[in-house]
Amino acid sequence: MIFRPELNVTKCGKSLFHWLRDHRRKKILQEPFPADFREILKKRYRHYSFLDDAEKRHLEQLVQVFMAEKEFEGCKGLEITHEIRVLISAEACMLLLCLHHDLYRGLDSILVYPSVVVTPPSTRGVFLQSPLIERQRTPISGQAFMRGPVILVWDVVKRDARHPERKHNVVYHEFAHLLDMEDGTADGTPVLHGREQYRQWAKVFTEEFVALRRRSEQGRKTFLDSYGALNEAEFFAVATEFFFDEPVQMQTKHKALYDVLSGFYKQDTAARERRYREGRQHRVK
Ligand SMILES: [Zn+2]
Repeated sequence: MIFRPELNVTKCGKSLFHWLRDHRRKKILQEPFPADFREILKKRYRHYSFLDDAEKRHLEQLVQVFMAEKEFEGCKGLEITHEIRVLISAEACMLLLCLHHDLYRGLDSILVYPSVVVTPPSTRGVFLQSPLIERQRTPISGQAFMRGPVILVWDVVKRDARHPERKHNVVYHEFAHLLDMEDGTADGTPVLHGREQYRQWAKVFTEEFVALRRRSEQGRKTFLDSYGALNEAEFFAVATEFFFDEPVQMQTKHKALYDVLSGFYKQDTAARERRYREGRQHRVK
């Protein structure tokens, strides 16, 4: 079933009509969002505070459905708590906040490790289904597989959610990979909204990717993390992290890149962050 929120129009112009047509999801949404879950979001997830009331309610609805549909599996003795499920779900759903989306269809489970994990050495079979899989034993904080699962490291997730100023967010990064791979390839281009957007995307992303790669090779300072210079897929994942974590700076320094990402995600993260900061200043005064 396609997940298309299309009624209850919010500022993002979406509604919940098609979503509510699905009986199972409708039942899930009849339950109120638990107050203790909201507390977790308020205390542990900085970007939740940036949202206006309508966006918060919509994110909570996405979280409810996501949590009901996805399996969370604790690895290496990690016990899955409400905090783990709520926080990861919220960050994954933040990317979809204004998109017509079926909530990462094909992803069934999320494997959560307590701390950094080392990938197994390259083996044939499931690990070679995705070009994103590392070929050697490498310490990682997250990994995305085509059609799932997603691997995440809890202490990194927790830190990233509270500290966007670090400009790293492993959940945004790995779920951006899932969006990218929806069309069957990890090439840094998710399914876009029309021919003009593809044209603009190819132009801007090519210029920005080549520039990042050149500066990285020359050892020069870069705005985006140089990890994005690895390939087009990593470029999109890293750019997504910065689009949510450092949007005001991105809009200033890489406006064209910000604009195409804003067009894709249908979110103006820079305006949202400015609103939040101004609101805080007024409250402090
Ligand atoms: Zn990656």
